[in-house]
This record gives sequence, structure tokens and C-alpha cells, in this order.
Amino acid sequence: MYTCADCAVRACGVRDPESLPANCPMRETELMEAALGEYDIPENRDFYITASEIEALGYCQWPRVRETVELCRRMGYSKVGLAFCRGLSREAKVLAGVLRRAGLNVVSVICKTGGVDKTICGIPEEHKVHPGNFEPMCNPIAQAMLLNREHTELNIVLGLCVGHDSMFYKYSEALVTTIAVKDRVLAHNPLGALYCAEGYFKDRII
Ligand code: SF4
Repeated sequence: MYTCADCAVRACGVRDPESLPANCPMRETELMEAALGEYDIPENRDFYITASEIEALGYCQWPRVRETVELCRRMGYSKVGLAFCRGLSREAKVLAGVLRRAGLNVVSVICKTGGVDKTICGIPEEHKVHPGNFEPMCNPIAQAMLLNREHTELNIVLGLCVGHDSMFYKYSEALVTTIAVKDRVLAHNPLGALYCAEGYFKDRII
């Protein structure tokens, strides 16, 4: 089992093959070669290089929104998808405007598209936020399918729920980047819970 998260050696960052931990993934030489080969295939090569250049060009200067714009520009995209959460509708409108000002056509689809009650797909009534009331289900598969139909070149996720984002990633045909993740408690900053994992959030995260 690989345990990079707990590694204190970090030989990967300094090219020090002599000090690899016993369970270091870099000992998987065949797999590492295979992974390198994947960066060479056409659908990955330009995208990966462009993304990596952006990291350097705007390092500690460009916020993620700008980095996303630059990625689209430098890849020559003209049409992008925006899959957003209803709870972040205001932010979605602002982001769509920013992307349009950058010259992109923006296809945006809200999570509640379809307007179908949660119980239709098997969610028990008692597990609604407000049982007994109509509650539209989040519909990440439809969001992805709609953007697929529009042939968007890159899809941007804004604030989809945990797990719903996973399903969107699964069904999206275009590559996906995430501008923000949903955290209703921490103003969409889940890292806050990690910063305080040994303190105020200790009893609230598991
Ligand atoms: S790749 Fe190897 S050296 Fe790098 S963090 Fe993981 S275990 Fe440590």
C-alpha cells in the first residue's frame, strides 16, 4: 500500500532514488514508464504541457479563475461547459460573465435540471432536507449529458455536492476542472476543517 501522505522522505521532490521508502510508488518502474507514455498521446500532450506552463507563468499571481481562463485561451477553446450548484447561482453568473468576457461561449447547466423529485431515483422521503415537500434531485448525470450534447471542450465544476461531483466526472466526455467545491459549513473551503482538525473541528469531522 502506498502512503505518500505520511512520507517524511519525499525523495520524489529531490531526485534521490537511493532513499526511496520500501513502499514508495516510484519502485513501480513499469507503471511509471507507462504513465509517462500517456503524456505523449495527442489528447493529453498539449493539455498537460499547457496546464503546467500556466502553473509557472502565473505562479502566486493568478487566482484559479484566471488560471482557468488562461488554460482555455492557450488551448484555443471556444466553448466551455459550466456545471454548477443552485446554491452558488450568483457565483455561477459571475463566472459565466468572466468567461464570456474572455471570449468563450459558455454552456451552463444547473444541478437541479430536470426538476425531478428526489424520491423518483430511490432517495427515501425521510432523507430529504425537508421531508414531505417537493425537493428536486441534483442531477449530475443530466448535467454531464447536456454538456456532452453541446460538445463543450472543457467542463468547469462549480460547487457540486460531494459524490454528485464524482458522478459528473464519470459522465463528462470533456475533461473537467473544478473551480470550487461545495462545503455548506465552511463557505466552500473544506480545508478549514483540516486546518483545525486537531482543534475546534476535532469532534466534527469523523
Ligand atoms: S513518492 Fe516515494 S518519496 Fe515521494 S512521498 Fe511517496 S513514498 Fe515518499
